[in-house]
Parts: sequence; C-alpha cells; structure tokens
Amino acid sequence: VSRPVEDVVRDLVADGIDVVRVSYPDLIGIERGRDVLVEQLPGAVAHGLSFCRAVYHTTPQGDTVEVPGGLDAGLPDIRVRPDLSTLAKLPWEDGVASCLGEAYEPSGDDLCPEAPREVLRRALLKLGDVGLTAVAGPEFEYYLCEPDPSAPTGWRRYADAPGNVYTSGRKGDPDGHVLRVLRHLRDLGLGVTMGNHEFGGGQFEINLDHSAALDAADRAFRFKSAVQEIARVDGMLATFMAKPFNDQDGSGFHLHLSCLDAEGRNVFEGTEPDGLSDTAHHAIAGVLEHAPALAALLNPTINSYKRFGPDSLAPWLIDWGLDNRSAMVRIPPERGAASRLEVRLGDASANPYLGMAGLVAAVYLGVRDKLSAPAPLEGYGYDAAKAPMLPGDLPTALDALAADTALIEVLGEPFVTAFLTYKRDEVARFGRHVTDWEFREYSYHL
Ligand code: GLU
Ligand code: MG
Ligand code: MG
Repeated sequence: VSRPVEDVVRDLVADGIDVVRVSYPDLIGIERGRDVLVEQLPGAVAHGLSFCRAVYHTTPQGDTVEVPGGLDAGLPDIRVRPDLSTLAKLPWEDGVASCLGEAYEPSGDDLCPEAPREVLRRALLKLGDVGLTAVAGPEFEYYLCEPDPSAPTGWRRYADAPGNVYTSGRKGDPDGHVLRVLRHLRDLGLGVTMGNHEFGGGQFEINLDHSAALDAADRAFRFKSAVQEIARVDGMLATFMAKPFNDQDGSGFHLHLSCLDAEGRNVFEGTEPDGLSDTAHHAIAGVLEHAPALAALLNPTINSYKRFGPDSLAPWLIDWGLDNRSAMVRIPPERGAASRLEVRLGDASANPYLGMAGLVAAVYLGVRDKLSAPAPLEGYGYDAAKAPMLPGDLPTALDALAADTALIEVLGEPFVTAFLTYKRDEVARFGRHVTDWEFREYSYHL
C-alpha cells in the first residue's frame, strides 16, 4: 500500500531531509538525476520530473548518440516519476535522501521501452510464462585509486601491494575507507554482506545478499553509484571499468541466480549425480546458448574484452562446471534452497539491469525450449579445444546480439535497437581515435 506523498514529505522533514535526489539509470547504467527540494516532491510524483530524452543517450564524453526517438523526434522530454518505495537517506550526505525514478514517455502513460528497469521487468514477465520468478545475488569487484599528479592517468592504486588478496585491516585498507563504505552501504539498506581485498592490487569486492531480481538490480545499481560517490567524498576514484590495468586482473560482476516456482520452491534443486534438476540444466543450457549475445549486455565496453582470457579467473570459453571457478557458469556447492548458478561472464562495467535482463531472458529461453547442456567442464578450464570461445571483441558481441532473434523478442526490439545504435557509435568513435599504444608501437621504428 502506498502512503500519501504528503505523509512521506512530513516524515522526511522530521528526519532532517530537505533534498530528495531522484535518479534513474540511463541506457549504459550511468546514474542520472535531479536534486529536488523536499516540498517539490508531491509535484514530482504527480507529474514526473522532465529530462531531455537526449540525455538518456549521452556518452561519458558528452556526445549525444542519435537513437530513434531522440534528436530525430526534436529532443522531447522523458518524465521521471519517483518511486517512493525506494526512498533511502544517504548516510554520507546530510539532509539528502535518494529515490529511484521510473522513466516514462512524453505522454506520461507508458514507460520508455529502453528504460533499463523496464527491460528487466519485460524479461521477468516472460519468465513468469513458464511459471518461474528469479532470485539474484550480485557480486562486484572494483579498483580504488588515489590522486597521483605524477601518474599519466592522474591516479595510482590504493593499498597497492602484491599479494594483498584477502588481507584485512590497515594492511589491505590503510585509511579504513573500505570499512566506511561497507557501513554506509549497510545504512543505505543495500543488503551488503561482506567486503574483502581481491586478487588485484587496490582491487576490492563487496557482496550483496540475494533477493527478487528487480530488487537485486536496484540494489546493484545503487551500490555502484554509492561506492563511486563515497570514494569521491574521500578524494578517491572507485572504478568499475572491466580491465583498468594491463598487469592486474579485471573486475567481475558475478551474478548468482536461482528460480522459484509459484510455491516459492527453488526449482534448480534436483537429484544425483549432480544434485541439479532438469530445469537447472535447461537454464544452464540457455545461458551457454545465448552467451555470445549476452556478452553485449554483460561485457558492454571495448575494454571488457581485455578482461577475458586464460588463467584470469574471468571466463574465456563458453562452458559450465561444478564448483569450478575457471568456468563461465559455476555451480556453487550448496544445494537445497541455495541451489543456484553463478554466472561469471559479466564484468563490473555492465549496467546491472541489462545484464540481469539478458540472463533472465536466456534462462527463460533455455527452460521454454528445454535446451540440453553439454557435459560440465572437468578440472582446470581454459582449454580452447574443449568449448566454444566467447566473442573476442565488442563488435562481434554486438553482431551476436543483433542476430539473436529469440533474445531480442524477449528484451524488446526498441530497446535492442537503441542499445545497438549507441554501442556501434561507441565502436566507431574508438575506431577513429589514436591511442597511446599506437604512438609507442609505430612512432619510432617504422
Ligand atoms: N577478477 C575475476 C573476474 O574478473 C574474478 C576473481 C574471483 O573469482 O573472485 O571475474
Ligand atoms: Mg571476486
Ligand atoms: Mg564470485
């Protein structure tokens, strides 16, 4: 039951809140928002906040990509309506609460078909056709950097010591920054469980508890924004780029996924030999079958494909295994209500809504079409003779998505067209850009 907005405003004011930050994910997962004085909230709820639709497709470099319904339509507004059930006080910013918004078409009645939350809802609705709901638990890795005027990028890695994996205390977190982040995220209500130093120097991981997929995606989206924001408060940079450093591991976005039936039973639980049900095998097969197209959503940047590779703990091949970290889909050893897939394909740069939507869609297709999974990987993976290879670059993944008509049907053609248009523009912009590597390779000897 939703409470009258006037009551919500009264409670916020009593709680010392005078600004509500209403934000939504754009196509690639950047948080876009407006700071709304609390007394303006009833109007925002009634009419929505207007944003120029072009902003929805503005790149990190500030270019506007011409997707259908944008420039060609004369730059109409989208209207973003706050979803008051998501209100949460920001623990690191006095007087400010954050609230997620839903992006509507200019008419105000229909949700934008390419709005990431809506794309995920579409996929979940389809999963409902086979009688299932999805539960997800996201894990993110990221690098923390401190300012360094002498470094070419202006940044150096925080707590950068070799072999710091799983070191805790001041050795792994000299300023207690990660500890502060963990507490702030808890106070924000994101359902975080624990944090640790990862394999890379200055690389960290914080885990989120599992919940219904849309809620898990909301928490994942807010998690990334919050981690970046708290780093800024401390004068640092938190980057979710897939592979920021040549000599360090990339950052994964591992997604634990299970499906429940109408009675709330985990349908992946099964019998020997592997303790998994037929449905679980179909789900695994769906993810493997659609993996090249899923890469476009879960590995959405040019940089993403530099994280893949043998001996990286990131995947390289399209395979699955029982408690095997070298496989793209790992089945963790727990069974019963905790029976689940850990899809290790995604990297941290993915828009969590779209990555999750893609996976839910692939699971749905696997179950609907009763696809059968190949035998699981045995032993250490990364042998290219044993399994098909993931796309080697973003253009290949985009072509795979464009060719995957079953997946497009689930995710919606308007969304996929907008996404492909945006990403192909990114590929073209990069193709025209001269990089430092080219200068080093070609300037001196040739
Ligand atoms: N950093 C690895 C990845 O990119 C994962 C390491 C781990 O298993 O935690 O997926
Ligand atoms: Mg990890
Ligand atoms: Mg993991």
